[in-house]
Amino acid sequence: MSEQSHPEIREAVRKLCAGFPGEYWRALDRDRTYPTEFVKTLTEAGFLSVLIPEEYGGSGLGLSAATAVLEEIHRSGCNGGACHAQMYTMGTILKHGSAEQKERYLPRIATGEIRLQAFGVTEPTAGTDTTRISTFAKRVGDHYVVNGQKIWISRAEHSDLMVLLCRTTAREDARRPAEGMSVLLVDMREAVGNGLTIRPIRTMLNHATTELFFDNLEVPVENLVGEEGKGFKYILDGMNAERILIASECIGDGRFFIDRSSAYARERSVFGRAIGENQGVQFPIARNYVQLSAAALAVDHAAALFEAGEPCGTEANMAKMLASEASWAAADTCIQTHGGFGFAEEYDIERKFRETRLYQVAPISTNLILSHVGTHVLGMPKSF
Ligand SMILES: Cc1cc2nc3c(=O)[nH]c(=O)nc-3n(C[C@H](O)[C@H](O)[C@H](O)COP(=O)(O)OP(=O)(O)OC[C@H]3O[C@@H](n4cnc5c(N)ncnc54)[C@H](O)[C@@H]3O)c2cc1C
Repeated sequence: MSEQSHPEIREAVRKLCAGFPGEYWRALDRDRTYPTEFVKTLTEAGFLSVLIPEEYGGSGLGLSAATAVLEEIHRSGCNGGACHAQMYTMGTILKHGSAEQKERYLPRIATGEIRLQAFGVTEPTAGTDTTRISTFAKRVGDHYVVNGQKIWISRAEHSDLMVLLCRTTAREDARRPAEGMSVLLVDMREAVGNGLTIRPIRTMLNHATTELFFDNLEVPVENLVGEEGKGFKYILDGMNAERILIASECIGDGRFFIDRSSAYARERSVFGRAIGENQGVQFPIARNYVQLSAAALAVDHAAALFEAGEPCGTEANMAKMLASEASWAAADTCIQTHGGFGFAEEYDIERKFRETRLYQVAPISTNLILSHVGTHVLGMPKSF
Protein backbone atom coordinates (compact mmCIF):
# COMPACT_ATOMS: atom_id res chain seq x y z
CA MET A 1 0.00 0.00 0.00
CA SER A 2 1.05 3.51 -0.59
CA GLU A 3 2.17 4.69 2.83
CA GLN A 4 0.03 7.80 2.32
CA SER A 5 -3.34 6.12 1.83
CA HIS A 6 -5.94 6.17 4.64
CA PRO A 7 -3.77 8.29 6.99
CA GLU A 8 -6.35 8.42 9.82
CA ILE A 9 -6.79 4.66 9.84
CA ARG A 10 -3.03 4.13 9.80
CA GLU A 11 -2.47 6.57 12.65
CA ALA A 12 -5.21 4.97 14.77
CA VAL A 13 -3.91 1.43 14.13
CA ARG A 14 -0.34 2.50 15.00
CA LYS A 15 -1.59 3.99 18.27
CA LEU A 16 -3.51 0.84 19.14
CA CYS A 17 -0.53 -1.38 18.31
CA ALA A 18 1.76 0.70 20.54
CA GLY A 19 -0.15 -0.87 23.45
CA PHE A 20 1.03 -4.32 22.29
CA PRO A 21 4.82 -4.12 22.21
CA GLY A 22 7.38 -6.86 21.53
CA GLU A 23 7.23 -8.25 25.11
CA TYR A 24 3.53 -9.03 24.62
CA TRP A 25 4.12 -11.01 21.40
CA ARG A 26 7.26 -12.72 22.72
CA ALA A 27 5.42 -14.11 25.75
CA LEU A 28 2.61 -15.46 23.55
CA ASP A 29 5.10 -16.85 21.06
CA ARG A 30 6.97 -18.75 23.77
CA ASP A 31 3.80 -20.45 25.02
CA ARG A 32 2.02 -20.57 21.63
CA THR A 33 -1.00 -18.80 23.08
CA TYR A 34 -3.63 -16.72 21.34
CA PRO A 35 -3.46 -12.88 21.44
CA THR A 36 -6.94 -12.56 23.00
CA GLU A 37 -6.41 -9.05 24.36
CA PHE A 38 -5.05 -7.73 21.06
CA VAL A 39 -7.94 -9.22 19.07
CA LYS A 40 -10.48 -7.85 21.56
CA THR A 41 -8.98 -4.36 21.31
CA LEU A 42 -8.95 -4.45 17.50
CA THR A 43 -12.54 -5.69 17.45
CA GLU A 44 -13.79 -3.02 19.85
CA ALA A 45 -12.05 -0.34 17.80
CA GLY A 46 -14.01 -1.57 14.75
CA PHE A 47 -10.99 -2.49 12.65
CA LEU A 48 -12.12 -6.04 11.93
CA SER A 49 -15.48 -4.95 10.53
CA VAL A 50 -14.26 -2.43 7.98
CA LEU A 51 -15.45 -4.57 5.05
CA ILE A 52 -18.96 -5.26 6.39
CA PRO A 53 -21.53 -2.93 4.78
CA GLU A 54 -22.99 -0.21 7.01
CA GLU A 55 -26.47 -1.73 6.81
CA TYR A 56 -25.11 -4.71 8.73
CA GLY A 57 -23.22 -2.63 11.28
CA GLY A 58 -19.76 -2.46 9.68
CA SER A 59 -17.91 0.57 8.28
CA GLY A 60 -18.62 -0.37 4.66
CA LEU A 61 -15.14 0.59 3.51
CA GLY A 62 -13.28 -0.84 0.54
CA LEU A 63 -10.52 -3.42 0.49
CA SER A 64 -7.77 -0.78 0.46
CA ALA A 65 -8.86 0.39 3.94
CA ALA A 66 -8.50 -3.19 5.17
CA THR A 67 -5.04 -3.45 3.60
CA ALA A 68 -4.02 -0.25 5.44
CA VAL A 69 -5.14 -1.80 8.76
CA LEU A 70 -3.21 -5.04 8.23
CA GLU A 71 -0.13 -3.35 6.85
CA GLU A 72 0.15 -1.08 9.90
CA ILE A 73 -0.44 -3.97 12.32
CA HIS A 74 2.47 -5.82 10.75
CA ARG A 75 4.72 -2.78 10.42
CA SER A 76 4.25 -2.21 14.15
CA GLY A 77 5.70 -5.65 14.93
CA CYS A 78 2.28 -7.11 15.74
CA ASN A 79 0.62 -9.93 13.78
CA GLY A 80 -2.85 -9.93 12.21
CA GLY A 81 -2.80 -13.68 11.54
CA ALA A 82 -4.81 -14.32 14.68
CA CYS A 83 -7.81 -12.45 13.36
CA HIS A 84 -7.41 -11.27 9.75
CA ALA A 85 -9.95 -13.88 8.63
CA GLN A 86 -12.63 -12.16 10.75
CA MET A 87 -12.37 -9.36 8.17
CA TYR A 88 -12.93 -11.35 5.01
CA THR A 89 -14.41 -14.81 5.68
CA MET A 90 -17.80 -13.16 6.09
CA GLY A 91 -17.53 -12.28 2.37
CA THR A 92 -18.85 -15.78 1.57
CA ILE A 93 -22.09 -15.03 3.47
CA LEU A 94 -22.27 -11.47 2.15
CA LYS A 95 -21.90 -12.56 -1.45
CA HIS A 96 -23.62 -15.93 -1.52
CA GLY A 97 -25.66 -16.25 1.68
CA SER A 98 -29.44 -15.92 1.93
CA ALA A 99 -31.07 -12.72 3.23
CA GLU A 100 -31.85 -14.62 6.42
CA GLN A 101 -28.22 -15.71 6.90
CA LYS A 102 -26.99 -12.16 6.32
CA GLU A 103 -29.43 -10.72 8.86
CA ARG A 104 -28.67 -13.44 11.34
CA TYR A 105 -24.88 -13.35 11.23
CA LEU A 106 -23.39 -10.18 9.73
CA PRO A 107 -24.47 -7.67 12.42
CA ARG A 108 -23.13 -9.95 15.14
CA ILE A 109 -19.89 -10.54 13.22
CA ALA A 110 -19.57 -6.75 12.93
CA THR A 111 -19.74 -6.29 16.71
CA GLY A 112 -17.47 -9.27 17.32
CA GLU A 113 -20.18 -11.12 19.22
CA ILE A 114 -19.74 -13.89 16.66
CA ARG A 115 -16.24 -14.77 15.47
CA LEU A 116 -16.23 -16.15 11.94
CA GLN A 117 -12.54 -16.64 11.40
CA ALA A 118 -12.16 -20.33 10.60
CA PHE A 119 -12.00 -21.40 7.01
CA GLY A 120 -11.89 -25.15 6.40
CA VAL A 121 -10.61 -26.13 2.97
CA THR A 122 -7.25 -27.95 3.13
CA GLU A 123 -7.15 -31.72 3.64
CA PRO A 124 -4.12 -33.92 4.31
CA THR A 125 -4.44 -36.13 1.24
CA ALA A 126 -5.76 -33.57 -1.27
CA GLY A 127 -3.17 -30.82 -0.58
CA THR A 128 -3.42 -27.98 -3.06
CA ASP A 129 -5.59 -30.09 -5.38
CA THR A 130 -8.82 -28.94 -3.74
CA THR A 131 -11.13 -30.86 -6.08
CA ARG A 132 -9.79 -34.03 -4.40
CA ILE A 133 -11.12 -33.17 -0.96
CA SER A 134 -13.10 -36.05 0.49
CA THR A 135 -14.80 -34.66 3.61
CA PHE A 136 -18.38 -35.57 2.79
CA ALA A 137 -21.71 -34.05 3.86
CA LYS A 138 -24.58 -36.50 3.32
CA ARG A 139 -28.07 -35.08 3.39
CA VAL A 140 -30.31 -36.89 5.91
CA GLY A 141 -33.71 -35.19 6.34
CA ASP A 142 -33.25 -31.61 7.54
CA HIS A 143 -29.54 -31.87 8.23
CA TYR A 144 -26.22 -32.93 6.72
CA VAL A 145 -24.06 -35.59 8.32
CA VAL A 146 -20.38 -34.68 7.89
CA ASN A 147 -17.47 -37.14 7.97
CA GLY A 148 -13.83 -36.53 7.10
CA GLN A 149 -10.73 -34.62 8.09
CA LYS A 150 -9.18 -31.19 7.55
CA ILE A 151 -5.69 -29.92 8.26
CA TRP A 152 -4.11 -26.52 8.87
CA ILE A 153 -7.40 -24.97 9.86
CA SER A 154 -6.34 -21.85 11.67
CA ARG A 155 -8.19 -20.23 14.59
CA ALA A 156 -10.71 -23.12 14.81
CA GLU A 157 -10.46 -23.00 18.60
CA HIS A 158 -11.09 -19.25 18.56
CA SER A 159 -14.04 -19.14 16.22
CA ASP A 160 -17.79 -19.47 16.76
CA LEU A 161 -18.50 -20.29 13.12
CA MET A 162 -16.51 -21.98 10.39
CA VAL A 163 -16.95 -21.81 6.63
CA LEU A 164 -16.47 -25.45 5.64
CA LEU A 165 -15.93 -26.73 2.11
CA CYS A 166 -16.97 -30.35 1.70
CA ARG A 167 -18.20 -32.71 -0.95
CA THR A 168 -21.92 -33.31 -1.31
CA THR A 169 -21.37 -35.34 -4.49
CA ALA A 170 -18.35 -37.60 -4.88
CA ARG A 171 -15.77 -36.34 -7.40
CA GLU A 172 -16.34 -39.33 -9.68
CA ASP A 173 -20.13 -38.73 -9.70
CA ALA A 174 -19.93 -34.98 -10.39
CA ARG A 175 -20.20 -33.61 -13.92
CA ARG A 176 -16.83 -31.87 -13.50
CA PRO A 177 -14.20 -32.19 -10.72
CA ALA A 178 -14.92 -28.62 -9.53
CA GLU A 179 -18.61 -29.39 -9.08
CA GLY A 180 -20.30 -31.27 -6.26
CA MET A 181 -18.67 -29.31 -3.42
CA SER A 182 -20.72 -27.24 -1.00
CA VAL A 183 -20.16 -24.62 1.68
CA LEU A 184 -21.63 -25.20 5.13
CA LEU A 185 -21.57 -22.87 8.11
CA VAL A 186 -20.55 -24.95 11.09
CA ASP A 187 -21.47 -23.65 14.52
CA MET A 188 -18.31 -24.58 16.42
CA ARG A 189 -19.94 -23.98 19.81
CA GLU A 190 -22.36 -26.83 19.17
CA ALA A 191 -20.09 -29.00 17.04
CA VAL A 192 -17.12 -29.54 19.33
CA GLY A 193 -17.70 -32.74 21.27
CA ASN A 194 -20.70 -33.61 19.07
CA GLY A 195 -18.91 -34.97 16.02
CA LEU A 196 -16.10 -32.43 15.70
CA THR A 197 -12.70 -32.86 17.34
CA ILE A 198 -10.06 -30.13 17.12
CA ARG A 199 -6.41 -31.01 17.56
CA PRO A 200 -3.89 -28.12 17.69
CA ILE A 201 -0.70 -28.36 15.61
CA ARG A 202 2.39 -26.75 17.06
CA THR A 203 4.27 -24.93 14.29
CA MET A 204 7.37 -22.74 13.90
CA LEU A 205 5.19 -19.68 14.43
CA ASN A 206 2.39 -18.86 16.86
CA HIS A 207 -0.56 -19.35 14.53
CA ALA A 208 -3.29 -21.31 16.36
CA THR A 209 -3.60 -23.78 13.52
CA THR A 210 -5.32 -27.15 13.93
CA GLU A 211 -6.42 -30.47 12.53
CA LEU A 212 -10.15 -31.23 12.45
CA PHE A 213 -11.85 -34.61 12.61
CA PHE A 214 -15.51 -34.98 11.63
CA ASP A 215 -17.34 -38.04 12.87
CA ASN A 216 -21.04 -37.91 11.99
CA LEU A 217 -21.26 -34.18 12.72
CA GLU A 218 -24.82 -32.94 12.12
CA VAL A 219 -25.19 -29.56 10.42
CA PRO A 220 -28.69 -28.14 9.77
CA VAL A 221 -29.60 -27.78 6.10
CA GLU A 222 -30.36 -24.10 6.73
CA ASN A 223 -26.58 -23.64 7.21
CA LEU A 224 -25.87 -24.41 3.55
CA VAL A 225 -24.54 -21.28 1.85
CA GLY A 226 -25.91 -20.68 -1.64
CA GLU A 227 -26.64 -23.68 -3.82
CA GLU A 228 -25.57 -27.23 -3.11
CA GLY A 229 -22.71 -28.29 -5.41
CA LYS A 230 -21.50 -24.73 -6.20
CA GLY A 231 -19.27 -24.32 -3.14
CA PHE A 232 -15.92 -24.40 -4.91
CA LYS A 233 -16.87 -21.33 -6.93
CA TYR A 234 -17.93 -19.50 -3.76
CA ILE A 235 -14.60 -20.28 -2.10
CA LEU A 236 -12.64 -19.14 -5.18
CA ASP A 237 -14.60 -15.87 -5.11
CA GLY A 238 -13.27 -15.11 -1.63
CA MET A 239 -9.68 -15.95 -2.43
CA ASN A 240 -8.78 -12.74 -4.22
CA ALA A 241 -9.62 -10.63 -1.17
CA GLU A 242 -7.65 -13.00 1.04
CA ARG A 243 -4.57 -12.90 -1.19
CA ILE A 244 -4.57 -9.11 -1.41
CA LEU A 245 -4.98 -8.76 2.35
CA ILE A 246 -2.22 -11.27 3.09
CA ALA A 247 -0.01 -9.40 0.62
CA SER A 248 -0.58 -6.22 2.64
CA GLU A 249 0.58 -8.05 5.77
CA CYS A 250 3.78 -8.93 3.88
CA ILE A 251 4.21 -5.28 2.95
CA GLY A 252 3.85 -4.38 6.64
CA ASP A 253 6.38 -7.06 7.63
CA GLY A 254 8.78 -5.81 4.94
CA ARG A 255 8.50 -2.25 6.25
CA PHE A 256 9.11 -3.51 9.80
CA PHE A 257 12.33 -5.21 8.69
CA ILE A 258 13.53 -2.27 6.59
CA ASP A 259 12.78 0.21 9.43
CA ARG A 260 14.76 -1.97 11.82
CA SER A 261 17.65 -2.64 9.40
CA SER A 262 18.16 0.96 8.40
CA ALA A 263 17.95 2.23 12.00
CA TYR A 264 20.48 -0.35 13.20
CA ALA A 265 22.79 0.31 10.24
CA ARG A 266 22.81 4.01 11.17
CA GLU A 267 23.41 3.43 14.88
CA ARG A 268 25.69 0.42 15.19
CA SER A 269 29.33 1.40 15.11
CA VAL A 270 32.05 -1.14 14.30
CA PHE A 271 35.63 -0.34 13.18
CA GLY A 272 34.98 3.23 14.26
CA ARG A 273 32.09 3.93 11.88
CA ALA A 274 28.41 3.16 11.37
CA ILE A 275 28.03 -0.23 9.72
CA GLY A 276 25.57 1.41 7.27
CA GLU A 277 28.47 3.40 5.78
CA ASN A 278 29.63 0.12 4.26
CA GLN A 279 27.83 -0.39 1.01
CA GLY A 280 27.88 -4.14 1.63
CA VAL A 281 25.46 -3.40 4.47
CA GLN A 282 23.63 -0.43 2.95
CA PHE A 283 22.83 -1.74 -0.52
CA PRO A 284 20.92 -4.89 0.48
CA ILE A 285 18.63 -2.70 2.61
CA ALA A 286 18.18 -0.24 -0.25
CA ARG A 287 17.43 -3.17 -2.56
CA ASN A 288 14.82 -4.47 -0.13
CA TYR A 289 13.18 -1.03 -0.17
CA VAL A 290 13.10 -0.96 -3.98
CA GLN A 291 11.59 -4.47 -4.16
CA LEU A 292 9.07 -3.79 -1.43
CA SER A 293 7.97 -0.50 -3.01
CA ALA A 294 7.30 -2.29 -6.31
CA ALA A 295 5.36 -5.04 -4.50
CA ALA A 296 3.32 -2.39 -2.65
CA LEU A 297 2.31 -0.89 -6.01
CA ALA A 298 1.19 -4.34 -7.16
CA VAL A 299 -0.91 -4.70 -3.99
CA ASP A 300 -2.45 -1.25 -4.54
CA HIS A 301 -3.25 -2.17 -8.14
CA ALA A 302 -4.90 -5.46 -7.20
CA ALA A 303 -6.92 -3.77 -4.42
CA ALA A 304 -8.08 -1.03 -6.81
CA LEU A 305 -9.27 -3.63 -9.34
CA PHE A 306 -11.04 -5.56 -6.58
CA GLU A 307 -12.78 -2.40 -5.34
CA ALA A 308 -13.87 -1.56 -8.88
CA GLY A 309 -15.42 -5.02 -9.20
CA GLU A 310 -13.01 -5.93 -12.00
CA PRO A 311 -11.50 -9.40 -12.46
CA CYS A 312 -8.30 -9.45 -10.39
CA GLY A 313 -7.32 -13.11 -9.88
CA THR A 314 -3.98 -12.78 -11.66
CA GLU A 315 -3.19 -9.42 -10.05
CA ALA A 316 -4.07 -10.70 -6.56
CA ASN A 317 -1.85 -13.74 -7.07
CA MET A 318 1.05 -11.69 -8.44
CA ALA A 319 0.77 -9.16 -5.59
CA LYS A 320 0.85 -11.95 -3.01
CA MET A 321 3.89 -13.55 -4.61
CA LEU A 322 5.85 -10.30 -4.98
CA ALA A 323 4.99 -9.10 -1.47
CA SER A 324 5.82 -12.42 0.22
CA GLU A 325 9.17 -12.61 -1.59
CA ALA A 326 9.99 -8.96 -0.81
CA SER A 327 9.18 -9.38 2.90
CA TRP A 328 11.25 -12.56 3.08
CA ALA A 329 14.23 -10.86 1.40
CA ALA A 330 13.92 -7.95 3.86
CA ALA A 331 13.74 -10.42 6.77
CA ASP A 332 16.93 -12.11 5.66
CA THR A 333 18.77 -8.80 5.31
CA CYS A 334 17.50 -7.72 8.72
CA ILE A 335 19.05 -10.75 10.42
CA GLN A 336 22.33 -10.19 8.54
CA THR A 337 22.41 -6.47 9.38
CA HIS A 338 21.95 -7.20 13.08
CA GLY A 339 24.69 -9.83 13.17
CA GLY A 340 24.36 -11.90 16.35
CA PHE A 341 21.63 -9.69 17.75
CA GLY A 342 19.34 -10.72 14.88
CA PHE A 343 19.04 -14.08 16.65
CA ALA A 344 18.21 -12.66 20.07
CA GLU A 345 14.53 -13.07 20.97
CA GLU A 346 14.35 -9.63 22.54
CA TYR A 347 14.90 -7.91 19.17
CA ASP A 348 11.70 -9.49 17.74
CA ILE A 349 13.45 -9.99 14.40
CA GLU A 350 13.79 -13.77 14.62
CA ARG A 351 10.07 -13.98 15.53
CA LYS A 352 9.00 -11.83 12.58
CA PHE A 353 11.44 -13.79 10.37
CA ARG A 354 9.60 -17.03 11.26
CA GLU A 355 6.22 -15.38 10.84
CA THR A 356 6.79 -13.87 7.41
CA ARG A 357 8.11 -17.15 5.96
CA LEU A 358 4.61 -18.60 6.04
CA TYR A 359 3.32 -16.41 3.26
CA GLN A 360 5.23 -18.13 0.48
CA VAL A 361 3.31 -21.31 1.35
CA ALA A 362 -0.09 -20.16 2.63
CA PRO A 363 -2.73 -19.32 1.67
CA ILE A 364 -1.34 -20.42 -1.70
CA SER A 365 2.18 -21.53 -2.50
CA THR A 366 4.40 -19.68 -4.96
CA ASN A 367 4.54 -22.59 -7.42
CA LEU A 368 0.78 -22.57 -7.79
CA ILE A 369 0.85 -18.83 -8.54
CA LEU A 370 3.54 -19.36 -11.17
CA SER A 371 1.46 -22.18 -12.62
CA HIS A 372 -1.55 -19.84 -12.84
CA VAL A 373 0.50 -17.20 -14.66
CA GLY A 374 2.21 -19.76 -16.91
CA THR A 375 -1.02 -21.39 -18.03
CA HIS A 376 -3.84 -18.82 -17.68
CA VAL A 377 -1.89 -15.72 -18.68
CA LEU A 378 0.85 -17.06 -20.94
CA GLY A 379 -1.05 -19.98 -22.46
CA MET A 380 1.58 -22.62 -21.77
CA PRO A 381 0.51 -26.22 -21.14
CA LYS A 382 -0.76 -27.22 -17.72
CA SER A 383 1.29 -29.78 -15.75
CA PHE A 384 -1.68 -31.18 -13.88
C1 LIG B 1 0.27 -22.10 9.35
C2 LIG B 1 -0.70 -22.49 8.27
C3 LIG B 1 -2.00 -22.01 8.33
C4 LIG B 1 -2.95 -22.41 7.37
N1 LIG B 1 -4.26 -22.02 7.51
C5 LIG B 1 -5.20 -22.59 6.69
C6 LIG B 1 -6.59 -22.36 6.94
O1 LIG B 1 -6.97 -21.63 7.87
N2 LIG B 1 -7.51 -22.99 6.14
C7 LIG B 1 -7.13 -23.83 5.13
O2 LIG B 1 -8.00 -24.37 4.46
N3 LIG B 1 -5.80 -24.05 4.86
C8 LIG B 1 -4.84 -23.46 5.63
N4 LIG B 1 -3.49 -23.70 5.39
C9 LIG B 1 -3.12 -24.60 4.31
C10 LIG B 1 -2.36 -23.91 3.18
O3 LIG B 1 -3.26 -23.17 2.40
C11 LIG B 1 -1.61 -24.98 2.42
O4 LIG B 1 -0.59 -25.49 3.27
C12 LIG B 1 -0.99 -24.46 1.14
O5 LIG B 1 -1.98 -24.07 0.24
C13 LIG B 1 -0.12 -25.53 0.48
O6 LIG B 1 -0.83 -26.74 0.39
P1 LIG B 1 -0.21 -28.10 0.97
O7 LIG B 1 0.38 -27.81 2.31
O8 LIG B 1 -1.25 -29.13 0.92
O9 LIG B 1 0.96 -28.42 0.01
P2 LIG B 1 0.97 -29.50 -1.20
O10 LIG B 1 -0.20 -29.29 -2.09
O11 LIG B 1 1.19 -30.84 -0.61
O12 LIG B 1 2.28 -29.03 -1.96
C14 LIG B 1 3.61 -29.20 -1.43
C15 LIG B 1 4.58 -28.40 -2.27
O13 LIG B 1 4.55 -28.90 -3.60
C16 LIG B 1 4.26 -27.85 -4.52
N5 LIG B 1 3.41 -28.38 -5.59
C17 LIG B 1 2.30 -29.17 -5.48
N6 LIG B 1 1.79 -29.44 -6.69
C18 LIG B 1 2.58 -28.83 -7.59
C19 LIG B 1 2.58 -28.73 -9.02
N7 LIG B 1 1.65 -29.32 -9.77
N8 LIG B 1 3.55 -27.98 -9.61
C20 LIG B 1 4.51 -27.39 -8.87
N9 LIG B 1 4.57 -27.44 -7.53
C21 LIG B 1 3.62 -28.15 -6.90
C22 LIG B 1 3.56 -26.78 -3.75
O14 LIG B 1 3.75 -25.52 -4.32
C23 LIG B 1 4.21 -26.90 -2.36
O15 LIG B 1 5.35 -26.10 -2.32
C24 LIG B 1 -2.54 -23.25 6.31
C25 LIG B 1 -1.20 -23.69 6.23
C26 LIG B 1 -0.31 -23.34 7.20
C27 LIG B 1 1.11 -23.88 7.12
